[in-house]
Amino acid sequence: MSFPLTDRHDRTHRSLRISIVDKCDLRCTYCMPEDQHFLKREELMTREEIATIARLLVERYGITKVRLTGGEPLVRPDAVDIVRDIAHLGVPLGLTTNALTLHKHLDGLIDAGLRSLNVSLDTFDAERFRKITRRDGYDVVWANIQEAHRRGLRVKLNMVVMRGVNHDEILRFVELTRDHDIHVRFIEFMPFAGNHWGRERVYTYAEMLGHIGSVHSFEKLTDDPHSTAKAYRVPGWKGTFAVISTVTEPFCGTCDRLRVTAEGKMRNCLFAREETDLLSALRRGEDIAPLIEANVLAKHAMLGGLPPFKPEKQEEVLHDLSERPMVAIGG
Ligand code: SAM
Ligand code: SF4
Repeated sequence: MSFPLTDRHDRTHRSLRISIVDKCDLRCTYCMPEDQHFLKREELMTREEIATIARLLVERYGITKVRLTGGEPLVRPDAVDIVRDIAHLGVPLGLTTNALTLHKHLDGLIDAGLRSLNVSLDTFDAERFRKITRRDGYDVVWANIQEAHRRGLRVKLNMVVMRGVNHDEILRFVELTRDHDIHVRFIEFMPFAGNHWGRERVYTYAEMLGHIGSVHSFEKLTDDPHSTAKAYRVPGWKGTFAVISTVTEPFCGTCDRLRVTAEGKMRNCLFAREETDLLSALRRGEDIAPLIEANVLAKHAMLGGLPPFKPEKQEEVLHDLSERPMVAIGG
């Protein structure tokens, strides 16, 4: 029998993100600082430890959705095995990837039970891709996205929209949904350690809708009650688009996500500054259930306790951020 994990603000947590590695084969400017240091292999959760923690959360605490992320999950040699283990838990499973090496793993991932893929793609321009990710790779990433879609995976594209960097490509992403059953998600640029965030670099939810609406009429779709994205469709088009408005319209009241980092630390919020070390306790043979429950109960009402992301609060936000860059949290 499972019971739901409810925090002190009466939010019930059903969705789990597990980062399986903190390394990455791209180095996106908004995600990974140039001088990033990575965990040693023995510091990472093993495949078995990932399965143990996930199983406990699913079977005992009623988690109904798991997403594997990173860093880049596919740089881990046993990524496909981890997908297979988690797929056996019998709850919907997704993977978030940059798709750079997806062609090497696609058959294995599908065979292991993966049906849904979130892929980061911030531009359709190869040179701009290189600037944003500090690596070449646009052609292979785009080919891999198309192949995953062709093979029947449900594909969501995540675009981090940054003013002056790629905001001029939003319409091109929307236009992709005309003939393809692809779900594009525009993500407001969020502040994390070392990513040179500034409120002025955030191309806002309102600006995005205004920009899209100046060219296409679109309709609002009904969002899942715990969705972090606000979804829309151009009537008659095959795909959808959505905005994740963490900065200008946070959705903390309905967020049902819990996170575990690659070294087995539990975070009750993307912006959390406190973490609970599950892995050390697990390795000592201790019961980790009380740690999980305490972590969930300690969740802040909003933004992990950060001040609102208003321009006048910018200095405070930057000062109060957790020391972790996004690459070491898992989006
Ligand atoms: N490597 C995989 C990828 O790129 O999809 C998974 C890990 S990545 C940290 C997960 C998600 O976080 C990606 O969709 C990425 O675009 C998003 N992300 C990273 N930094 C971000 C930021 N500063 N603001 C908004 N989204 C961010
Ligand atoms: Fe790597 Fe994904 Fe972060 Fe880019 S967004 S640096 S691909 S983890």
